[in-house]
Amino acid sequence: MLKVTPMLELPILSLEDTLTGAPSSSAGGGCSSDIALALDGSVPTRRRLPPWLKRPMPTSEMSFTSQIIEDLRLETVCESAKCPNRTECWSQRTATFMILGNVCTRPCGFCSVPRGKTEEIELDEPERVAEAAKRLGLEHVVITCVTRDDLPDGGAEHFYRCVLAVRAATGAAVEVLTSDFLGNRAAISRVVEARPDVFNHNTETVPRLYERVRRNAKYQRTLDLLKQVKDEAPDMPTKSGLMLGLGETMDEVLDVASDLRAIGVEMLTVGQYLQPTPQNLPVERFIPPEEFDWLGEQCRRMGFKLVSSGPFVRSSYHAGEMADVLGRK
Ligand code: SF4
Repeated sequence: MLKVTPMLELPILSLEDTLTGAPSSSAGGGCSSDIALALDGSVPTRRRLPPWLKRPMPTSEMSFTSQIIEDLRLETVCESAKCPNRTECWSQRTATFMILGNVCTRPCGFCSVPRGKTEEIELDEPERVAEAAKRLGLEHVVITCVTRDDLPDGGAEHFYRCVLAVRAATGAAVEVLTSDFLGNRAAISRVVEARPDVFNHNTETVPRLYERVRRNAKYQRTLDLLKQVKDEAPDMPTKSGLMLGLGETMDEVLDVASDLRAIGVEMLTVGQYLQPTPQNLPVERFIPPEEFDWLGEQCRRMGFKLVSSGPFVRSSYHAGEMADVLGRK
């Protein structure tokens, strides 16, 4: 078994600062390697990102995607979660739609989606998501949501309507990336009834860290949801994702992977957590690409059909390609 290196004394970064490039000294190289640290959000200093954590600068192609999102008044997790892949994905005219508003009812430490007073459900949102998917020419549409614990069904009916609207307008494959619906089995069933091509629900981290990273969520509830989906629709691929770099050990990660395999999950994504804003949890460790490769291999040996493991892997990163391999498109 790979010997896992102890915690490295690496900088804790604000992804927001890193990706805007504002404090960076990079000039014309296409990548930023200097970052502003956000140890407490008040005394930024400069350190160097690990060399493997570099992303391309924005391109003009991005504006095509952003204009459609703006015109149709849609939310994306790409923007709300300050995803580091936005330059790449949006330049390729791919985005992940976030439905049910832009305000979340959960206080997860890793996430930069705003919390507070939630918004009314916009009844025409399914059609607007469908229209965006059509204009972008998406063949694989990923729809996620803010967690809506304030709604009796957690927004499941709206999710259902979005899946059907996208499919009717585009014929595209649809992947849902849902909240845990507080374990509401009827709500979960309703989303399954929409027959998404992939049912994705993230585990996010190892159970020991749930209280700090994913407060108000429960590890067992996540497993129960994924199991319920598989029980109700055995041919519907289930998928889950983990972030590394929050203080977990590799053995704990492998235990989670094993739990997911035991309930039939076929697809797994594993990526590096990056602190999106100074208010979010700090990065404990930057995992080198070789460790991601090793972990991916271990998970494949467990029987996952598809594993995407790498520093910039996110739940929806190259989701269409993953689904393609599984023959769902
Ligand atoms: S990886 Fe997903 S969330 Fe990130 S930019 Fe790409 S589509 Fe958006």
